[in-house]
Amino acid sequence: MPSPIDCVARLADAKARLKTARAEAGTTREVEIIAVTKTHAAQTILPLLAAGHRLFGENRVQEAEAKWPPLREQFDGVRLHLIGPLQTNKVKAALGLFDVIETLDRPRLAAVIADEAAKSGRVPSVFIQINTGEEPQKAGVIPAEADAFITSCVSEFDLPVHGLMCIPPADEPPAPHFALLGKIAARHGLTRLSMGMSHDFEIAAQLGATEVRLGSALFGPRA
Ligand SMILES: *Cc1c(COP(=O)(O)O)cnc(C)c1O
Repeated sequence: MPSPIDCVARLADAKARLKTARAEAGTTREVEIIAVTKTHAAQTILPLLAAGHRLFGENRVQEAEAKWPPLREQFDGVRLHLIGPLQTNKVKAALGLFDVIETLDRPRLAAVIADEAAKSGRVPSVFIQINTGEEPQKAGVIPAEADAFITSCVSEFDLPVHGLMCIPPADEPPAPHFALLGKIAARHGLTRLSMGMSHDFEIAAQLGATEVRLGSALFGPRA
């Protein structure tokens, strides 16, 4: 287990690596680090909050429900992203917890989010997850269906779609997947790209990521 000091030092290290990677690619676009805290207890996260970090990601509604409301009471300005698959029966809870839902990937889910947002007045920012590698076991819209789905989320469901998210196949070079995500986003004027994890975030930053999602790079391996 890394010590608490470690995650603060590791965040600084990740920021430095991002800066170098962006300078190499000649890009000045800001890249935010989403600290992915799934499986980690509040205790582990506290040093980052105390050091001023405010952007976090969780992949399960139930886990976030137990962990984040008390932390939000202690620290102002926390922004929480849902980065794991969302079931429709968890949408109501998710809207109460998350500022951004990154994993919208099907019409039924869009309909339920729109419906719950209208009822509760809590409208999350939405990213659409694209299954760039067309992997059957992975969530996300396949690229061939992305344009129609993005358009329907905006015009039919009236959702505030701000970006796209992807998780490239583990056994392929990620760069073509990041480039494809950027291309689809550009066609729709979407400005946010959530791509890049601990092992490939520098490449993602060079290809236009606006947020990278870092878990093990900050907190060490998950149990
Ligand atoms: C767990 C997870 C991450 C973080 O993965 P690391 O390799 O530990 O950085 C990023 N994105 C998603 C969607 C995840 O589920």
